[in-house]
Amino acid sequence: MATTITEKQNGGSAGSAEEIEVFNPATGKLVTTLPACSPEQVVEMVARARRAQVAWHELGFEGRGKILRRAQKWLLDNSDRVLDTVVSETGKTREDVAVAELGYMCAAFGFWAKKAPKYLAEEKLRSSSPFLIGRKLMVRYEPVGVAGIIGPWNYPLSNSVGDAIPALAAGNSVIVKPSSVTPLSSLLMEEGLRECGIPDGVFQVLVGRGPIGLTLIDEVDFVMFTGSTETGKTVMERAAKTLTPVSLELGGKDPLIVLADANLERAANSAVYWSMQNAGQTCISVERVYVEEPVYDQFVSLVTDRVRSLRQGVPGGFGSVEVGSFINPPQADIVEAHVEDAVKKGARVTTGGKRLEADGAFFQPTVLTGVDHSMECMTEETFGPTLPVMKVADVEEAITLANDSPYGLQASVYTRDLEKGEAVARRLHAGTVTVNDTVANYSALEVPMGGWKTSGVGVRHGADGIRKYAKRQTILLTRFALNKELYQFPYAAFRSELLVKFVKLLYGRGDRS
Ligand code: NDP
Repeated sequence: MATTITEKQNGGSAGSAEEIEVFNPATGKLVTTLPACSPEQVVEMVARARRAQVAWHELGFEGRGKILRRAQKWLLDNSDRVLDTVVSETGKTREDVAVAELGYMCAAFGFWAKKAPKYLAEEKLRSSSPFLIGRKLMVRYEPVGVAGIIGPWNYPLSNSVGDAIPALAAGNSVIVKPSSVTPLSSLLMEEGLRECGIPDGVFQVLVGRGPIGLTLIDEVDFVMFTGSTETGKTVMERAAKTLTPVSLELGGKDPLIVLADANLERAANSAVYWSMQNAGQTCISVERVYVEEPVYDQFVSLVTDRVRSLRQGVPGGFGSVEVGSFINPPQADIVEAHVEDAVKKGARVTTGGKRLEADGAFFQPTVLTGVDHSMECMTEETFGPTLPVMKVADVEEAITLANDSPYGLQASVYTRDLEKGEAVARRLHAGTVTVNDTVANYSALEVPMGGWKTSGVGVRHGADGIRKYAKRQTILLTRFALNKELYQFPYAAFRSELLVKFVKLLYGRGDRS
């Protein structure tokens, strides 16, 4: 008898610990069942990855880049299969997959293949220390070895395999543990990379429920994790036992600020798109809006009209619906609780507000007004298709409220005065702030993206987005030198006094008033 999605949500009477059932959340139908890896298998996978890594590293940037560029082409040649697979296990619209998964992955394969040699190039440096005259200094990068990537269900390609690409480009083997809710997209990429000629063991996918991630953390040399702040803490704690470095991309509660002089049409369109795209399940989606009082009513009317017109349902071909289902059905409970809590405390639902009765897991695209920071919808990550809009007296109140959060992933500001926009951006406590745009930075793979506060540790993208997968080594070369340095044994008072005089001479000059 087929397992139903309700059984799965309840922990599953069907489905043993050894198997993973993958459902289409939009229809509630079982897509497939996969065997889950045991801890012993994880240890074997890492050993295989370690053996394969040596030759992969020796291929050099060019050899690895060739395979990564082939993967880019493979994605394009197999785009329908990729779209079908992601849609089948997420219930997302085809457009959401095309833009943020297929588009991102194609860009990332090309970007890291091209930029890895530059970001990981050896650097020659000069020291300002007079004690090092005549020395050559250089910094070089060695791959960490085996990188473990633990991904969430919201972007099964971009947030799992996407993070594997810089790790591979840097010369590492990678093991991706996708969310057990959405393992099929990663498995498809494993097949694709194999077809592109990636050597055996260099890229592997570990299918299993959350806790198997702990075994992976014990075995690998670096952990990249994307997911909730709570699980992120568990990951960091576990990694501390082996002093394994981690990079964590965690939750967010991203604010969008609308100033009175903003282009309201653009601000409203951005707020609606970036709160409802991917059914609101994006770590950097708009989770709360602050609008200056003079334009509040107009803004509310604009976003309400737009949200009301969104079509929601089981995604079909391109153009069928704007909003799909929840990817992980239990998420509906969190979203419903946040809306109910807000309404109980006096908020108004201008459109939506209810869970849909359907086989899949759907919550109506919802706009909430009259909200404040006593409500969960303004302080906790909702991760669903909701848009709470709060009236503020002025920009100062907007900044104070935007910063009143344990999270600090991203933020956006809308104003026609760019100087003012930049000044506001500099005062917001977030890893990235966009002015008259939202999330646009994510396409700029050249710039770091990461959270402040409980939104994360480390970054993806930019030079640090690949250097984190490498060990740094400093080499100092001394060609000509005395037989003995002045400061070495045996200590003699006159030499020590001379040294102190020298230090005073060096560092004692200059105006420090
Ligand atoms: P988690 O953070 O628990 O899951 C992320 C990844 O971690 C998954 O692969 C998961 O596996 C794995 N995992 C779970 N437990 C452990 C563990 N003990 N050790 C190692 N790995 C583990 O996300 P949830 O699915 O629980 O979602 C909870 C909330 O997190 C959501 O409501 C949402 O608010 C937020 N979230 C944020 C995301 C973001 O991009 N910032 C993405 C997803 C969720 P498995 O799925 O198999 O359990």
